[in-house]
Amino acid sequence: MSKAIRIHRNGGPEVMVWEDVPTPEPGPNEVLLKQQAAGLNYIDVYFRTGLYKAPSMPLIIGQEGAGTVTAVGSAVTTLKPGDRVAYAGAIGGYATDRVIAADRVVKVPDAISFETAAAMMLQGMTAQYLLRRTYHVKPGDTIVVHAAAGGVGLIMCQWAKHLGATVVGVVSTEEKAALARANGAAHTVIGHDKLAAEVKRITGGAGVPVVYDSVGKDTFTASLDCLAPLGLMASYGNASGPVPPVDISILAAKGSLFLTRPTLATYTAKRADLEATANDLFDVVAKGAVKIQVNQTYPLKDAAQAHIALESRKTTGSTVLLP
Ligand code: NDP
Repeated sequence: MSKAIRIHRNGGPEVMVWEDVPTPEPGPNEVLLKQQAAGLNYIDVYFRTGLYKAPSMPLIIGQEGAGTVTAVGSAVTTLKPGDRVAYAGAIGGYATDRVIAADRVVKVPDAISFETAAAMMLQGMTAQYLLRRTYHVKPGDTIVVHAAAGGVGLIMCQWAKHLGATVVGVVSTEEKAALARANGAAHTVIGHDKLAAEVKRITGGAGVPVVYDSVGKDTFTASLDCLAPLGLMASYGNASGPVPPVDISILAAKGSLFLTRPTLATYTAKRADLEATANDLFDVVAKGAVKIQVNQTYPLKDAAQAHIALESRKTTGSTVLLP
């Protein structure tokens, strides 16, 4: 037997139960992992509440982890017991042991600890595809990053600065603003009421070529109002709730804007893309351009406490759950 946090129904943090589960056996193309750390991500909240539909119940939530391979399926040739690996985007992460498709994990460089790996795979690969592929950030660009002191946010601020961009970070408190600035945001704006006006002031009236909006419902219109003509709205999350249906004529009225709703799953669906995205992330971390900040750790059995902190906007940077 092993241990896991499972939900038997959707609901608040209390639906997460720490219980015995049978240790799974790897199928032919799978590996069994002994997890040393699991990552906490906002998507875990969406699966818990039911905003994102559970594939089955009971469900072990969690999308990210790092650990050691303990067994491999009969057809696996790329990994062996003892390998240090990590993954993002495969549900079943809140567990001491789990199976996962061998082609969904990557080997972790020796210099990166399990905790750091579990903290960075999902949020860091998200920052990578948003900054390098959804919109290719160039030196001299000014960009808007919402939830700039959060998990994805602190990585985006550092990485975008490293790429030569000027970041306008949006946060809810003075403390978070200071943290975002310490991590590379050139400007910070508290709340979104005056966001568009501030962005216009900072850009001399021009607006920005891209807004990265993970907040969703509350900030959608304010984000569109920050964009220069032909700008790109990357709406990649729903921390405040999902964006209601959009009348696309608004994109015409605000300057022939582009709108995308990207996911890490699409950007890393092909093995080659997963490897390239992870390697780019390992590279910026190895050279110190991006420092992964694990600002909260909890025992995995206390995942409910971690969810309460995340949803009440008390966390900054990344959070790790320890089995
Ligand atoms: P964060 O650490 O960023 O936590 C969420 C933050 O959102 C809060 O700290 C808070 O920052 C802000 N926020 C604004 N409004 C609310 C609200 N009503 N309730 C709660 N928080 C709010 O989380 P993650 O780094 O894990 O994820 C950030 C976002 O990115 C999430 O929306 C997530 O779904 C999305 N995401 C999307 C991916 C994709 O591929 N599409 C992949 C990874 C993450 P503040 O107090 O400063 O406002």
